[in-house]
Amino acid sequence: MKVGILAVQGAFIEHEHKMQALGATCVEIRKKEDLNQHFDGLILPGGESTVQGKLLNDLDMFADLKKRIQQGIPTLATCAGLILLAEHISNDDKAYFQTLPVTVKRNAYGRQLGSFYTEEEVKGIGQVPMTFIRAPYVESAEDEVEVLAKVEEKIVAVRYGTQIGLSFHPELDENNKIHEMFYQMMEAA
Ligand code: GLN
Repeated sequence: MKVGILAVQGAFIEHEHKMQALGATCVEIRKKEDLNQHFDGLILPGGESTVQGKLLNDLDMFADLKKRIQQGIPTLATCAGLILLAEHISNDDKAYFQTLPVTVKRNAYGRQLGSFYTEEEVKGIGQVPMTFIRAPYVESAEDEVEVLAKVEEKIVAVRYGTQIGLSFHPELDENNKIHEMFYQMMEAA
C-alpha cells in the first residue's frame, strides 16, 4: 500500500512513522510533480489550515487532490486536515476542498483549553487516546455522515464514504487503531 502524505506544513512526519510501522510505503507530497503517481490513500495532517490551504493553491496542487478525494481515495484528515475537507467553517469565510458535508468550528476549544488529552470510544475500534491541539470540532453534519466519536457532546470524529475526519491527533499517541482502520480502508478500496 502506498500512501501520499501532504507535507507542505504541519505534523506529517508522525503519520509517516505510523504508516511505515504498518508496512505502508509513504510518499511526501510537497510539490505538483509528487502527484504524478498513484496513491492508495491520502493523509492530510494537522498544522495550520490557512497556511496549508494557501500553499495548496500556490503550489498548484489543489485541483488534483480535490479530484482524487472526490473520486474516492481513502483520506485520513486530522485537525487542520479536517478543516481542509469541511464544506463549511462556521467562524471563517474560507473553505477549501469542501468534500466533507460538515460544518466545523476552528480553534473551537478556546484559549484556556487550547490543548488537552482524553480517551474516548471510536465506533468500531474501541477506546482511543485523543490529543487535541487548538482543535476544531464538528458543529453539524449532514445525515449521511457517520459520527464515529464525541467528546463531551461535541463531534470529534466522522466518516463519510472514504473520508475520515478527526479533531484530534492520533499520530501523536502510541495507539495505532486509527491508522490500522485507515490501512484497512486502503486495502478494501
Ligand atoms: N488551529 C489549527 C487551524 O485552524 C488546527 C490545529 C491543528 O491542526 N493542530 O488550522
